[in-house]
Amino acid sequence: MGVFKNVFITLSNNSYLNNAAKQVGPRLGANKVVAGNTIPQLIETIEYLNENKISVTVDNLGEFVTTEQESQQAKQEILEIMEAISQYHVDAHMSVKLSLLGSEFDLELAYQNLREILLKANEYGNMHINIDTEKYDSLQQIIEVLDRLKGEFKNVGTVIQAYLYDAEKLIDKYPELRLRLVKGAYKEDASIAYQTKEEIDANYIKIIEKRLLNARNFTSVATHDHNIINHVKQFMKENHIEKEQMEFQMLYGFRSELAQTIANEGYHFTVYVPYGDDWFAYFMRRLAERPQNLSLAVKEFATPETLKKVGVFSAIGISVASLVGLTTKYLRK
Ligand SMILES: Cc1cc2nc3c(=O)[nH]c(=O)nc-3n(C[C@H](O)[C@H](O)[C@H](O)COP(=O)(O)OP(=O)(O)OC[C@H]3O[C@@H](n4cnc5c(N)ncnc54)[C@H](O)[C@@H]3O)c2cc1C
Repeated sequence: MGVFKNVFITLSNNSYLNNAAKQVGPRLGANKVVAGNTIPQLIETIEYLNENKISVTVDNLGEFVTTEQESQQAKQEILEIMEAISQYHVDAHMSVKLSLLGSEFDLELAYQNLREILLKANEYGNMHINIDTEKYDSLQQIIEVLDRLKGEFKNVGTVIQAYLYDAEKLIDKYPELRLRLVKGAYKEDASIAYQTKEEIDANYIKIIEKRLLNARNFTSVATHDHNIINHVKQFMKENHIEKEQMEFQMLYGFRSELAQTIANEGYHFTVYVPYGDDWFAYFMRRLAERPQNLSLAVKEFATPETLKKVGVFSAIGISVASLVGLTTKYLRK
C-alpha cells in the first residue's frame, strides 16, 4: 500500500492539478467529502449536522498560497464563513491553516491575518479558531505563532500529530489550550516520525491518555478508528473523566453512522467540514490514507462523462483517474 500512499501524496502536492481542479469545483466524487463551494451549501450542511446533535468545524480549503493578495483573499473568505455561522446561529467554529494565510513566504503576514480572524472571532462570542497542523517543516511556525497569540486569546488551539516523536512534548507544553489529537496525515521521515501503524497507534493512545488526565482545556480526539474510540471510552470510564471534557471528531463524509451512534451516546461530537474550490489536495490526502473510503467516489471519478466535464484535466486528469481505478482494483483483490 505504501506505493499508493506515496503517489496520492505526490498528486496532492501538484500545483498544476490543484489549480486545474479549482476551476471545476468539488466533483469527481469529492462532493461526498467536501460540503460545496457556496455559503448556502455550507450552512445547509451545518444545519443538517446540528439537527443530528453534531457540531461542525469548517475548513476553508486552500493550498499553494504564494502572494499577499492570495493570503488576504483566504482571510476574507474565512471571515465571510464566520459571519455566516454567526448570522445563521449554527453550532460551528473554524479550522485554519497557516499556509493559507501566507506563512510559507511571510510568517508575520500569516500571524497578522490570524490575529485579525481571532479578533473577529471574539466578536462572535469567542468562536474557537483551531490551527490545523500541516507538514513537519511548518510545525515550528505554528508553535511560534501560537506562543504569540495564546496570551491574548483564549479561543485559539492547535492539533498534535501522534506520529511525531515530539507529540508527547507538545501535549506537555500546552495543557491550557484546546487541542485536537490526530494520528497525522502527511508523509514524514523516520528521523522525526513513527512509520508503522502499530507504533503510531501506541503513541496516539499514550498522548490521548496523558492529555485527558492532565488537560486544563477541552480535548478533541479526531479519528475514524473504532478501536481507538472504544479504548478512549473505556479509559474515560475507568478514570472518571467527564464527557464534558472532550469530544470525538471525524471528517465529513466518513463513518457517519458511527459518528451518529457516538453522538447519541451523549458524547460531544464534531464533524470537520471542508468547504470551497480548493478540494483536490484534500481529496488526494484522504485517498492516500485509505483508498477504500472513497470507493463510490472513485467509480464516478473514472467515468468518461466526468472526464469530459473536466476536460481541463486533460492527460494528467486521465492518468489520475487511471491510478485511482487501479488502486480500487488492487484493494478489491
Ligand atoms: C477531524 C479531523 C481533523 C484532522 N486534522 C488533521 C490535522 O490538522 N493535521 C493532520 O496531520 N491530520 C489531521 N487529520 C487526519 C489524521 O491525522 C489521520 O490522517 C486520519 O484521521 C486517518 O487516521 P484515523 O485516525 O482516522 O485512522 P486510520 O489509521 O486511517 O484507520 C484505522 C482503522 O479505522 C478503520 N477505519 C478508518 N476509516 C474508516 C472508514 N471510513 N470506514 C470504515 N472503517 C474505517 C479501519 O479499520 C482502519 O484500519 C484529521 C482527522 C480528523 C478526523
